[in-house]
Amino acid sequence: MAKCPVCQQPVDQAAAKMQTGMTPGGAKEVDPKAGTRQFHDGVWFYFDTLECRNLFTRNPDSYINPSA
Ligand SMILES: [Zn+2]
Repeated sequence: MAKCPVCQQPVDQAAAKMQTGMTPGGAKEVDPKAGTRQFHDGVWFYFDTLECRNLFTRNPDSYINPSA
C-alpha cells in the first residue's frame, strides 16, 4: 500500500492506476476520490485526493525531503 506523501494517508495503488491510465503527467481522472498518482523525477507518487496531488505539484521537494 502506497502512502500519500502530503497527508500520509494510505493509497490503494491499484485503484489509483485504474483511474489514471497509462500516460505520465497527462492522465485524466474519472473518479479522483479513489486516488490518483503523478510521475515525478522518475518515480510514481500516489495520492488519496486531487487536492493532495495539487499541493505536491506546487512544491514536490517539500514533501519528498521534508527536512531539506
Ligand atoms: Zn493525501
